[in-house]
Amino acid sequence: MSTGNDPSSAIVVGAGIGGLTAAVALRRIGWSVTVLERAPIIAEVGAGLTLWPNAVSALDALGLADAVRDRAVRTVSRGNVRTSKGRWLRRSHPDDVRVLAIHRAALHDVLRRALPESTLHTDAEVVSVAEDGKVVCRCSGEEHDLAADLVVAADGVNSAIRRSLWSGDPVFQGRSVWRGVTPSGSVWPVEESLSLGRGEQVGLLPLPDERVYWFVMANADRPNQLSTDERADALRHVEGWHDPIPELVRATPPDQVLHNDVVDIDPVPSFVRDRVVLLGDAAHAMPPDLGQGACQAIEDAVVLAAALAADPDTTAALASYDDQRRARVQPMATAARESVRRTANTNPLTHLAVTLAARLVPPKAWRKATARWSDWTAPPVPQQENKRS
Ligand SMILES: Cc1cc2nc3c(=O)[nH]c(=O)nc-3n(C[C@H](O)[C@H](O)[C@H](O)COP(=O)(O)OP(=O)(O)OC[C@H]3O[C@@H](n4cnc5c(N)ncnc54)[C@H](O)[C@@H]3O)c2cc1C
Repeated sequence: MSTGNDPSSAIVVGAGIGGLTAAVALRRIGWSVTVLERAPIIAEVGAGLTLWPNAVSALDALGLADAVRDRAVRTVSRGNVRTSKGRWLRRSHPDDVRVLAIHRAALHDVLRRALPESTLHTDAEVVSVAEDGKVVCRCSGEEHDLAADLVVAADGVNSAIRRSLWSGDPVFQGRSVWRGVTPSGSVWPVEESLSLGRGEQVGLLPLPDERVYWFVMANADRPNQLSTDERADALRHVEGWHDPIPELVRATPPDQVLHNDVVDIDPVPSFVRDRVVLLGDAAHAMPPDLGQGACQAIEDAVVLAAALAADPDTTAALASYDDQRRARVQPMATAARESVRRTANTNPLTHLAVTLAARLVPPKAWRKATARWSDWTAPPVPQQENKRS
């Protein structure tokens, strides 16, 4: 484990999609990287994920897009829209933006394989971080003092680093979401679709190997309403919905149905504090309505590495990262929050407006709206020799 003050050393806190991508990107520009993950193993639970063209461009800048494509299905997101009873409001159009649908575990695996094992430390919980890059880690039960030129706080929406050096607790958005991946072949083929009820949404996405990723989003009056049978709770919301939604939920093993509160954070005034940077959900957790949270974590990682490679003055490079990323991602997080207000609204007139929009908006305008956030090209991330891996 690197503990010195090497001029190009980074400690990445958290081995989620954001942390692993940051580790890959920083190693690519020749930095020495240590990833600290508090969990005993590095693995991504979770269900499916859509990767929009912006994230694919960022993965391309790291040389990983082909490996990701190999494990994904190319499809549309929100191209096919239905009512809860199955009436089509909109059918996918050739102009619709194409996304990659992938199992989170597969994306995580591609990122992990791009890193040497020696970079990754599990059972390593960061208990404090100072602005100058000093870190205290409880690694396998023992406390260690570490230091690096840069600490990347990729410790998720509940980031203890954000809360200690900045401020900002997660904000519950009055929504709950259940997710699952139905094993292969039980109901196949399944088309990508988004089905709209009053205040409720169900999404279906085909994954490789004839699996289907589904999610059910509904209003909730308070957070943390955990249940001993999450699948039954999800099913309750989709009773009477069109085929194959109830069947897909029923065919998912109950212990593999995930339930999360929808939370985000208020915008933070800066992503950088001296030698510590926020990245991914720690910096800008947003509701999942735009399907961009992980895509933005991947973008963050690439922009951070590109900025550090372009400017030998680390302070200036971090300022550039801060400017670029806040300008792009904070309006997006606000838009995701506004989207929740619309889709959670149970007023019949609002629901009518949402369904009418799906029916009447012409393909070009639909594309423009969905491409609003995905139209982004990654900066190059120059491959440099890693001096100290
Ligand atoms: C229902 C739902 C659907 C979504 N769909 C999409 C989608 O289709 N497309 C998309 O782009 N995004 C989507 N997202 C958003 C996406 O899941 C997140 O934005 C993304 O996973 C965030 O990654 P991260 O690495 O920043 O954080 P996390 O995945 O939360 O990783 C944080 C890591 O840090 C570790 N950690 C925490 N504290 C410490 C500590 N003190 N010391 C060491 N390690 C620590 C944790 O164990 C964890 O491994 C969705 C989210 C939800 C809830």
